[in-house]
Amino acid sequence: SVKSRRILVTGAAGFIGANFVDYWLTQYPNDQIWGLDKLTYAANLRNLSEAIKSVRFTFVKGDIADESLVRGLVIEHHIDTVINFAAESHVDRSIASADEFVQTNIVGTHNLLKVCKSIWIDDPNWCQRKPEVRFHQVSTDEVYGSLTIEDDSFTESSPFLPNSPYSASKAAADHMVRAFGKTYGLPVTTSHCSNNYGPYHHVEKMIPMIITHLLENETIGIYGDGLQIRDWLHVEDHIRGIEHILKDGIAGEHYNIGAQYELTNIELVHRICKLMEQEFSQRPELHAQYPMATALQTGTSTSLIEHVPDRLGHDKRYGVNFDKLAELGYQPQVDFDAGLKRTIAWFMR
Ligand code: NAD
Repeated sequence: SVKSRRILVTGAAGFIGANFVDYWLTQYPNDQIWGLDKLTYAANLRNLSEAIKSVRFTFVKGDIADESLVRGLVIEHHIDTVINFAAESHVDRSIASADEFVQTNIVGTHNLLKVCKSIWIDDPNWCQRKPEVRFHQVSTDEVYGSLTIEDDSFTESSPFLPNSPYSASKAAADHMVRAFGKTYGLPVTTSHCSNNYGPYHHVEKMIPMIITHLLENETIGIYGDGLQIRDWLHVEDHIRGIEHILKDGIAGEHYNIGAQYELTNIELVHRICKLMEQEFSQRPELHAQYPMATALQTGTSTSLIEHVPDRLGHDKRYGVNFDKLAELGYQPQVDFDAGLKRTIAWFMR
């Protein structure tokens, strides 16, 4: 549709939020975006260095749980679309302490819903203008729990069985989103995506950790036997999935977004080692640029892999069925090896 949107993107300085902002500014020249981010340790304002050059993008530092701030933004800028990327997102941190996860992922999401409902549904001035509105919640496939090798992938009717404090906080938020749709008629949609990779990813996460450790000749710690299976989705495909939901998704529904590209963690490390060794053998100038990357230069990178005690409650396998979103026209487009190569190049830029 040609309708122009006024979008509040929360968590805009994080990995996926920043990729969304870049994509959207390029694809939708009539849309205005406000990026709200608390700038936690996970944020990086440099992720928005292209976006802030655009007059159609405004950055706001703040907390999604701050009611008066969010209310002011939605009213003043006539926000008609909220896309909630803001979250505490690292499972290991949630195991160490879940306080921030409850505060941001649950209380913060509820605050956004509450503000949107009070303006979009209850405010007579707003309702007279009759803008089309949408609240989109960015969730995870981890709310469904874990699969065995034999199980079929998760569908949208799989029960919520979260296992980590992180996934439990996301599941709680998703239930609240659903409830605001059912109870008050707030036009809500939710997406559950698999593991993302791509530019702007925080170095504490698996793929960036492997790449940066290889460049520094540091040990690559792999949890347990490394046979946990993850479905890897390029962040651009995730964003295209959200785009389909915003355009054609039905309010009140939730949609899985995946790539059906499942790999064990140990296969993934070996894949990255191989691609990076190839890069180093084809481009000798990299040896001077990354003097520490001796294992890459000598073709012995897999010797850096070290198995460490498994994460508590570590889920064995995630995998999503995205037939429902495919009906709206979604198909993942990024080939995994090509996407991984581009990601490696980005971290070595
Ligand atoms: P990220 O940790 O890179 O970014 C999160 C951003 O949210 C950060 O910039 C942080 O400063 C901001 N933030 C945190 N608390 C905030 C608050 N109270 N108010 C405002 N901003 C706050 O995370 P990501 O990987 O970009 O994930 C984005 C969303 O996608 C999350 O909701 C996550 O649960 C979901 N998700 C991520 C993946 C993945 O593989 N990365 C997979 C499935 C779902």
